[in-house]
Amino acid sequence: MAETEREPPKMAEPTQNAETSAPQKPTESSPDSRRQFVLRATQTLVHACQCKDRDCSLEGCQQMRNNLTHSKSCARKSTGDCPVCKHLIALCCYHAKHCHLKATECRVPLCGQLKQKLEQQRKLHQAEAPSQRTKTD
Ligand SMILES: [Zn+2]
Ligand SMILES: [Zn+2]
Ligand SMILES: [Zn+2]
Repeated sequence: MAETEREPPKMAEPTQNAETSAPQKPTESSPDSRRQFVLRATQTLVHACQCKDRDCSLEGCQQMRNNLTHSKSCARKSTGDCPVCKHLIALCCYHAKHCHLKATECRVPLCGQLKQKLEQQRKLHQAEAPSQRTKTD
């Protein structure tokens, strides 16, 4: 399966305002690499939540811990304005979906809450569509 066919080069648009044109980013937006990215970020999150090593050399650990510390005292967290917290919460959500630990065992913030929410949604979903169990004995 060799991808020999390429898209024909697009017609260059008239570049009147070259200054405002965004720089071309490398195309790394394939869903797979994005998934890998998120997966690794969640792993870093889980690690950072229990990492106490000041000189931890794991890539992203220090940054993640900074973010965690930040979100604890962020005033904009609940309003959804803060990009740092937004990103963090998104990661927590992703993690919670795959986390099978008890709320008391998992150190990821919001994990317990998010899991509860997910569970509620699941129950709600089941209640709304009881198509699988229509018969009652
Ligand atoms: Zn670490
Ligand atoms: Zn924040
Ligand atoms: Zn968890």
